[in-house]
Amino acid sequence: MPGFELFGDLERSEVNDVLDNGVLMRYGFDGMRNGHWKAKELEAELTKTFQTNHVQLVSSGTAAVSVALASAGVGAGDEVIMPTFTFVASFEAIMMLGAIPILVDIDATLTLDPKAVEAAITPKTKAVMIVQMCGSMGDLDALQHVCTKHNLLFIEDACQAIGGTYKGKPLGSIGDLGCFSFDFVKTITCGEGGAVITNNKDYYINADHYSDHGHDHVGNDRGAETHPFLGYNFRISELNAAVGLAQVKRLPEFIAIQKKHYTILREAISSVPGVTFRKVPEGGEESYAFLNFFLPDLEAARKTSQAFKESGVDVCWNYYDNNWHYVREWHHLKDAKSLYPLSSEIKEELVKLKNKDFSQSDHYIGRNISCLIKLSWTEAEVVARANKMVEAIKASI
Ligand SMILES: *Cc1c(COP(=O)(O)O)cnc(C)c1O
Repeated sequence: MPGFELFGDLERSEVNDVLDNGVLMRYGFDGMRNGHWKAKELEAELTKTFQTNHVQLVSSGTAAVSVALASAGVGAGDEVIMPTFTFVASFEAIMMLGAIPILVDIDATLTLDPKAVEAAITPKTKAVMIVQMCGSMGDLDALQHVCTKHNLLFIEDACQAIGGTYKGKPLGSIGDLGCFSFDFVKTITCGEGGAVITNNKDYYINADHYSDHGHDHVGNDRGAETHPFLGYNFRISELNAAVGLAQVKRLPEFIAIQKKHYTILREAISSVPGVTFRKVPEGGEESYAFLNFFLPDLEAARKTSQAFKESGVDVCWNYYDNNWHYVREWHHLKDAKSLYPLSSEIKEELVKLKNKDFSQSDHYIGRNISCLIKLSWTEAEVVARANKMVEAIKASI
């Protein structure tokens, strides 16, 4: 991560195809576009990447989560279980539909603890949404088991985990629906963009219509199309899809670079007593987009973070005090600071967050350091970084 580091001729050539005929929209204008259908081509490519039957491109990863939930019928008053460690997009996408985000603890995998999920289920629970944070995954068999037992949808937000696998299957392809982001800082980028993937044809058709105002996409006269149900506009543009089409072809190369850099850093710091690593479930292989490790306590993690900064080790974070990724600092959420009225059901749940006990999540996030793995580093830079990291950690614990 991120794919923009290796932006080049392939991306430029795909974008030029679109500029040559000027059809920036993914639907219609068949005669003008000289056979260029970048969004359709990217969807076809992604069905292979994700080994899935259907892919619907949308305008962002956040839109992908809303569209996935809506396509499976999740809406007003339904509870969606999600982890305390994620990106703010998770609760935004749930609340956009009038559904209620229910935050639950994470475990050593840095995502949903299956026991905490089961304890949070109520008669209103409709879906469990795992967020495969920082290139890895939760215990997917155990979570799938809980969902099957309680007849709940299982949704994967795999926005940060493209290229990771579980028991040979791509992350994102395991649940009922999977969501991806191709924003500017993700492993492959469209500038802005996202995708919903599923093997369920009905969900796919719903996602296709819903993300384009409910248009049925029958025939080739947009003006004559009917609307079987209400929708929104979450379309991706041809320009964005063109960039993604170039980037997805480079995904194996990106993952190989990530793995190489990750392995050098991991081997170096694993020799430091007191350092342990995030749990990867049996049968799982990370995407190597991040290296996540634990220190003995919060104080050591904070000291290490500071020592990293002082020695020039950038793109590493302890998320305990971070307001993008961890519940502790989501004050706008806990205070329900919305521009427009929220339903009383949502407000009641948000207020509860202020006093909810997330000490189990604190235990993991407080001790964790998450380092982004960049594609543009040279091998010499990675080795120098590894040495600095070892020194900084040793000095802090
Ligand atoms: C980036 C990200 C999103 C949102 O994607 P956007 O394309 O930026 O809207 C959602 N979930 C996770 C885990 C992300 O990292």
